[in-house]
Amino acid sequence: MNNYSLKKIYSQKSLDFFRQKSEIVYSNDKTIGDLVKSMLEIMYKNSAIGIAAVMVGVHKRVIVFDLQKNVRKKPTIMINPEIIYKSEDMNEFSESSISLDGVIKNIKRPNIIKVSYLDDNFQKHELKAEGLLSTCIQHEIDYLDGKLFFDYLDEEEKNKIIKSIASELKIKNIVEDIDTLRTKCEPVKEITDQIRNTLNDMLEIMYQSGGIGLAANQVGINKCMVVIDLQKDGIKKPIFLINPKITWKSEETVLMDEGCLSVPGCSASIERPAKVKLEYTDNYGKNHEIETDDILARCIQHELDHLDGKLYIDYLSKIKRDMLIKKVKKNLNI
Ligand code: ZN
Repeated sequence: MNNYSLKKIYSQKSLDFFRQKSEIVYSNDKTIGDLVKSMLEIMYKNSAIGIAAVMVGVHKRVIVFDLQKNVRKKPTIMINPEIIYKSEDMNEFSESSISLDGVIKNIKRPNIIKVSYLDDNFQKHELKAEGLLSTCIQHEIDYLDGKLFFDYLDEEEKNKIIKSIASELKIKNIVEDIDTLRTKCEPVKEITDQIRNTLNDMLEIMYQSGGIGLAANQVGINKCMVVIDLQKDGIKKPIFLINPKITWKSEETVLMDEGCLSVPGCSASIERPAKVKLEYTDNYGKNHEIETDDILARCIQHELDHLDGKLYIDYLSKIKRDMLIKKVKKNLNI
């Protein structure tokens, strides 16, 4: 198996990634065979008619497409494609992308184009395309130049789309975003590439913030998902918990200091069961059942509380809780 997977445009960072220009491919590039194979797999799996290499995370000038007329697979692979002719007459098709959820727009493009390109054996060809095929090829070649189909819309419509993409994940805190943190999360129904992307993003934010656990509603996502990495001995070993459920708690309890990224700069000693049994699904849909103790058991209980809209400060007396909230306000300069 290789590491290529469908990349989504869902944040400013991911949009910036798609805005980078792709590089020319040279004939000694040994990675192209695998890349093309993955691109085709991902294209067919997602019922798309074309994809560019950047959509699987690679900035190389490769596109593949297949209109799958009569359901027969007959893909075309284009390396270093270049449009050498565009007709003046235009055609309009409804365009969307499997990398960008929920955006479908009518876009006008030249009806007929001629493209020069290399096939996957680096043989040179020219192709004349018309109608939907022409649009599909233009749409994919645009990706190689960091251009997206919504760039053809008027400024207002385009900015609206960019703004919705750029509403990036940010850690919510108990002073400004208490309602979000109190929201109970809903079960994840299907583990998609989007879910995996979000989990990776959560993990990145958690590492950046120096945390060892993060629940999805801490970044405003109302789904039963948690990332944990105790980073023992400085080695990263993330755990992705989807729809986790504690099935058993020990009667024995322990006191342990807890902190929380949503309660920045604070910690408090909290009593909880020493051991728990946990059922969860990982980011690839595999089910697990574990029994654990010590810091991991603690972390799991803390994060699962988040998913129920519960915070560790709820276990404290009102006086202690108010003191912590005051401290957070001071830390955040609110
Ligand atoms: Zn927390």
